[in-house]
Amino acid sequence: MTSPESGPAAGAGGRGSLLVRGGHVITMDPAAGDIPGGDVLVSDGTIAAVGTGLAVPPGTRVLEATGMIVAPGLVDTHWHLWNTLLRGMSESGPGYFRLCRGLGPAFGPGDIYQGTLLACAEAISSGVTTVHDWCHNIRGPEYAEAGLRALAQAGVRARFSYGYPAAHRGDQAMDLAGLRRLHAEWDGRAAPGLLSLGLAWRGPGGSDPAMRVPAAIYRREIGTARELGIPVTVHACGPRSAAGQIGVLASAGLLGPDLQVVHANWATEAEIGQLAAAGGPVTISPWSEILVGYGLPRTAELLAAGIPVGLSVDTTALTGNADMFAIMKLTQGLANAAAEDEFALTARRTLALATIDGARSLGLADLTGSLTPGKRADLIVVSAPDPNLGMVTDPAQLLVTAAQPGNVDTVIADGRVLKEGGVLTALDAARIGRDARRALDGVIARSWSAPR
Ligand SMILES: [Zn+2]
Repeated sequence: MTSPESGPAAGAGGRGSLLVRGGHVITMDPAAGDIPGGDVLVSDGTIAAVGTGLAVPPGTRVLEATGMIVAPGLVDTHWHLWNTLLRGMSESGPGYFRLCRGLGPAFGPGDIYQGTLLACAEAISSGVTTVHDWCHNIRGPEYAEAGLRALAQAGVRARFSYGYPAAHRGDQAMDLAGLRRLHAEWDGRAAPGLLSLGLAWRGPGGSDPAMRVPAAIYRREIGTARELGIPVTVHACGPRSAAGQIGVLASAGLLGPDLQVVHANWATEAEIGQLAAAGGPVTISPWSEILVGYGLPRTAELLAAGIPVGLSVDTTALTGNADMFAIMKLTQGLANAAAEDEFALTARRTLALATIDGARSLGLADLTGSLTPGKRADLIVVSAPDPNLGMVTDPAQLLVTAAQPGNVDTVIADGRVLKEGGVLTALDAARIGRDARRALDGVIARSWSAPR
């Protein structure tokens, strides 16, 4: 059932001292602001100092960033990495949800690994240093292990939200014993500081009656996560026909700062108020929401209510790519269009959603999301001299409206250089692509031979 795995091309290397020197540094830390001609000193994976004219400690590697933009690594807050193998298939087939339910059961652990690794390669290449892996095709313990192995190998920061198998029956509980086992062993795993554990929860189920989950089951599932002290994430309020799910969660007394709500496109004013009162974060994924027909994100209303909001890829099976720059641009554009106001959502505020606010919404703001001394070193260097940028004017507006993944020159995650000079340093993208294709061929072959 398993597919061959792609090993790292050269290894991501260690976490020595690094000085990123002379760039326009957007710290996203209100106390520090922007620092033109600034330096970021990284020591053993931690941001040691941010400022101008920093001394170079002995043995420190210097990365010149003069004329470039230095910013926190971008933060994704909800992404089904495993189904990256299904990219480009939803429209010619049965649609995204039936595609996942149809082919998901034919995935082996090795296919989860290949899809996750392909997604990680794109994340790193695009400047995304934190992902929230919403893994909703765990068909046995080895599936979770496969996803975690890919994340650890790639070197990204991730919350791994442990989910149910694709096409799981609503009246059956997910594998809570597997979740408990993973939680008990968590601290002994590789990369414990980079990876954290959560629960990808079905909640009461979605718009499809066949997928409804009885209250006794969904309460046991979230109860287990809360007993373990791990955060929970749930899709709610996707299509208009499924509106009202946030109200159901509120009535059941289940909303809270540890329960991230995904989409919320059709949240009523009352539901937005309930989310705000409970301190519940929301993640919006405007590209998938408009392409699948969910409607428009409620960005302005959510922010006005003081709800922590993060931006997300959701799934490249729908969105095609994981371009967080395009996600930011769309988020700003849709908010301004809805308000009929050029200044309703500024580029700077939008950039915050993709960095510090996203980290805050995942409970990771003490580790990442801004270039603040003491935080882990997750940062990107964007090449301003590229033709679609040209020079540094307002750097936040450039990142939101002009930049593209191809402009990301250097990516550092947890102090390790994962992309440099526009090239991935630890992953072999060509090999990962070939292995992903082979894995998908196996998935399709097995789905044909499966009993119907
Ligand atoms: Zn989703």
